[in-house]
Amino acid sequence: MPFRSGFVCILGRPNAGKSTLLNALVGEKLAIISPKPQTTRNRIQGVVHVPKRKGKGGGQIVLVDTPGVHKPDSSLGRKMMVEVREALEGCDLVLVIMDVTRKFDPRDQFALDLLRRPKTKAFLILNKVDLIREKSKLLPLIEQYRKLYDFAEVVPISALKRSGLDTLLEMVIATLPAGPAYFPEDQVTDQPARFMAAEIIREQLLLNTSEEIPYATTVMVENFEEGARLTRIAATIYCEREGQKGILVGKGGLMLKKIGTSARLQIERMLGTKVFLELYVKAEPRWRDSRRFVEELDWRRQLEQRMFERGTPQHSGTEPSAREDRNEDRQEDSKEEPVAHAGRIANGDDDPTKD
Ligand code: GDP
Ligand code: MG
Repeated sequence: MPFRSGFVCILGRPNAGKSTLLNALVGEKLAIISPKPQTTRNRIQGVVHVPKRKGKGGGQIVLVDTPGVHKPDSSLGRKMMVEVREALEGCDLVLVIMDVTRKFDPRDQFALDLLRRPKTKAFLILNKVDLIREKSKLLPLIEQYRKLYDFAEVVPISALKRSGLDTLLEMVIATLPAGPAYFPEDQVTDQPARFMAAEIIREQLLLNTSEEIPYATTVMVENFEEGARLTRIAATIYCEREGQKGILVGKGGLMLKKIGTSARLQIERMLGTKVFLELYVKAEPRWRDSRRFVEELDWRRQLEQRMFERGTPQHSGTEPSAREDRNEDRQEDSKEEPVAHAGRIANGDDDPTKD
C-alpha cells in the first residue's frame, strides 16, 4: 500500500465541534474551544501522522479547521468566511461536521452550498453522538443530509469522548491520493507560537466573560521574546468600549489577573519555558467593522509584512512585531503604572531576570 497524503478541510456551523475534532485527531491542543459560537476566527492547520500498519501504507493528513459557517455582519465575520473559502480551495476532502443534537435548518443548507461549488469529495460527520441515547434517531437526519449532498461516507463520532476517530482516520487515509508528506514528522501545525499564545489568551477571555464581550474582544501579541528558560510576552486585549475595558480589568484588577494567570500557565506548558506575561487592555471602538484592523490581526499577513519589510524570507513567528504604531502604543502604556486601572498586568515571577 502506498503512503497517502492530502489536505482535509473541516467545515460546519458554529459550535458543531470542529476544533474539538481537530485537537482530538492531532492529539494536541492547537485550536481553542469554548461553548460560545464563533470561537475560531481563522483557519488552523493541524498535521496528523498516520503510521504504517499491517497491510496499510500510512500517511499524512493536513487537517484544516475553519471558523463556523455563518452569514457575516461585520468585517470580522466577512474575514472569517474568507478563511473558510480559502480552506476549501484545493483540499482533497471535506469533513462536514454536524451537531446531532440540533435539527437541520436553513443555516445547514448554507454550509452545504459552500461545498457544491467546487464539487468536492465530502464525508458527513455526525458529532456529539455521546449525547444521543437512541442511535436510531440519527437515521432520519442522515437521510435528510444524503438527499442534499452526495456524501462518500457517513461517520458517527464523539470528538469530545474520542469515539469513532480511528475508523474516521482510516476512511480519510483511504480516500487521499498517494503522495509524499507535506510536513516533517515532528511538526503538528503551521501556526507560529506567538499566535497560539494570543489564542490561548483569547480562550480565557471567552471562558471568563459573557454577553457581548467574548465577541467584542481580540488579542494582539506585541512582543514575544523566546529564551531557553524564559519567554517574555506582551499582549494587548482589544475591546470596543470603555465599559467593557472596566469589566475586563475587573475590581482591583482581579479579572485581568485571573485571565493572565490561566493563560500564562497554558503558554508555559505549550512552550516548555517559564513565561513572563504582560497584558494591556485597550478600547478600539468598532474594530470588528474595520477592515484594516481585522486584516492586521491575521498572522499570515503579519508574517508577509515582516518578510516584505526585511526583504528576506523569514518564517519565524517568534519575533517582536514590526508594526511601529502598535509598538509606540505599547510604549505609551508601559509608561503607565502597572496598576489594574491602567489595564495592565504582569504575570509571572516578580523579577523575570532572576530566572
Ligand atoms: P466549533 O465551533 O465547531 O469549533 O466547536 P468547538 O470544538 O469549539 O466545540 C463547541 C462546544 O461543543 C464545546 O463546548 C465542546 O466541548 C462541545 N463538543 C464538541 N464535540 C463534542 C462531542 O462530541 N460531544 C459533546 N457532548 N460535546 C462536544
Ligand atoms: Mg472552532
